Amino acid sequence: MTAVETLQLIAQEVRTCTRCALHKGRTRAVPGEGPPDAKIMLIGEGPGYHEDRQGRPFVGPSGQFLNELLALAGLKRSDVFIGNVVKCRPPQNRDPQPEEIQACTEAYLFRQIEAINPRVIVTLGRFSMSLFLPGERIMRIHGQPRSVGGRLIVPMLHPAAALHQPQNRPLIEADFQRLPAILAQAEREAAAKAATAAPRRKDEEPPLEQLSLF
Ligand code: URA
Ligand code: SF4
Repeated sequence: MTAVETLQLIAQEVRTCTRCALHKGRTRAVPGEGPPDAKIMLIGEGPGYHEDRQGRPFVGPSGQFLNELLALAGLKRSDVFIGNVVKCRPPQNRDPQPEEIQACTEAYLFRQIEAINPRVIVTLGRFSMSLFLPGERIMRIHGQPRSVGGRLIVPMLHPAAALHQPQNRPLIEADFQRLPAILAQAEREAAAKAATAAPRRKDEEPPLEQLSLF
């Protein structure tokens, strides 16, 4: 199956999913959206009011702010894949529960990541961060890329946290501004890895007498 097909299949499954209690309160599930070969994937927490009505991620006020943040990184929405930890809106925007997170990520988010295979994952908020960097504190490590499972994870504050606490705004803006350099670093690391992993051609092998010199 191609990445496009896998993502379409996942989206279909999400729209009719009843794997956790969150399905009871949803208007529309929000599978996520973006190019199947996106180099950067952003992972939020879960749909809010507007996302639940429209079935699309980050379309309310935090989505508006996210668009501005992406622009600071020289990116458009259509350049990145935007998803969430849970695909259905928690009642009154309460925190997603551990069993909901486990059910939803196992069934959908981790398959989306595998299909897209992004170089960089930006986690937005602590629930998303904890999937990759459990036990870390977001105010301590935001903006610092970590290599996890062959790609760079960049924890960032949730845009809503910056909207509600204006003192956080410069932090998240600075973190987004560093994103192009972080992607370049991830591309370099991937290229270096591909070069060492490539099998040597026979005619590139050093002659035996040369080997014995070492
Ligand atoms: N907040 C999120 O975490 N995700 C969305 O899709 C919208 C708001
Ligand atoms: Fe299914 Fe995820 Fe929605 Fe729960 S939150 S019902 S696991 S799609």
